[in-house]
Amino acid sequence: MLTPDAIAELRGRRYNGTVVHLRRANPDLMILRVRPDFPIPAHKPGQYCSLGLGFWEPRAEGCQVETLTPEEQAKLVRRAYSISCSISEGPGRLVEYGAEFLEFYIVLVRENADGRVPALTPRLFALKGGDRINIGDKISGMYTLDPVQSDDTVLFLGTGTGEAPHNYMLWELLRRGHSGRILTATCVRYARDLGYLATHRRLAEEYPNYTYLPLTTREPGVTKKAYIQDLITDGELEHHLGEPLEPARAHVYLCGNPKMIGVPHRDRATGGVTYPQPAGVIELLEARGFKADVSAAKFKGNVHFEEYW
Ligand SMILES: Cc1cc2nc3c(=O)[nH]c(=O)nc-3n(C[C@H](O)[C@H](O)[C@H](O)COP(=O)(O)OP(=O)(O)OC[C@H]3O[C@@H](n4cnc5c(N)ncnc54)[C@H](O)[C@@H]3O)c2cc1C
Repeated sequence: MLTPDAIAELRGRRYNGTVVHLRRANPDLMILRVRPDFPIPAHKPGQYCSLGLGFWEPRAEGCQVETLTPEEQAKLVRRAYSISCSISEGPGRLVEYGAEFLEFYIVLVRENADGRVPALTPRLFALKGGDRINIGDKISGMYTLDPVQSDDTVLFLGTGTGEAPHNYMLWELLRRGHSGRILTATCVRYARDLGYLATHRRLAEEYPNYTYLPLTTREPGVTKKAYIQDLITDGELEHHLGEPLEPARAHVYLCGNPKMIGVPHRDRATGGVTYPQPAGVIELLEARGFKADVSAAKFKGNVHFEEYW
């Protein structure tokens, strides 16, 4: 066990940011704002940075039990988090964003299917306003709006907190006065897992070119009970978009659960492509003439993706 003095010393040395706002959308889902001690580096909507806490920090209740060696207790655990955005602060007003703090949208992983004990989120969920945290001073990632022209159709398809970078990119498009259609679909288990629902509903009323489609897989009624893949195969996506899904004019962004995204294996020697099964969105879209990006810089298509694990 580390002494209180040792913990105070580690916190002073390893932490470089302050939690300035924390909202629980539900007990396992939060919107967190962190103000770094350093000026926020130039970055683009869609990118990510790291958050970290010491293994010495307490864990939220009800999470998988962790056993640490004394050496591990003094270490820091860091994970990547997309930068999110609250987009709007009321009718007709987009938030002013970018200089004071960074916003994150994080789900608590209580237990890991692969047996590895989740290290960071149980600690993030024990944080409160004013607490100190480690925040990475590099903001990176290729998942950005770079390829989008002002009249392109833009689709943001995400699972759970995979909505985070989409919110920031949506804010940027609305701010720029994007003239093409924009659709966000977010797939979660229950309606309570839609942390920005009220904001998206208001934006969809305010902006005639914007549509928000919340999907719940375990709760019919409140929202549509469906997976993102279903929307594409049954034509519902195009119905809500109000136009055909055309590779020539659309960019599709996919973020979150790798099963939804379905990144194929591309055999360099033969040029063969093997898609994971059951089919993810990339397979469904490539069958319709879309082309997914190939690794970060090799080939930029019109389907862009960010896998969370
Ligand atoms: C580029 C990038 C950006 C990311 N941005 C976000 C973000 O904005 N918000 C966010 O909540 N997570 C995000 N993640 C995931 C994040 O980095 C951590 O993996 C996650 O918070 C779990 O950390 P952990 O230490 O508690 O658990 P770990 O021990 O790291 O457990 C990882 C396991 O948790 C599960 N898992 C991880 N992330 C999620 C998730 N978002 N939803 C459901 N299950 C998950 C998977 O089964 C995964 O195998 C991002 C990952 C990457 C690579």
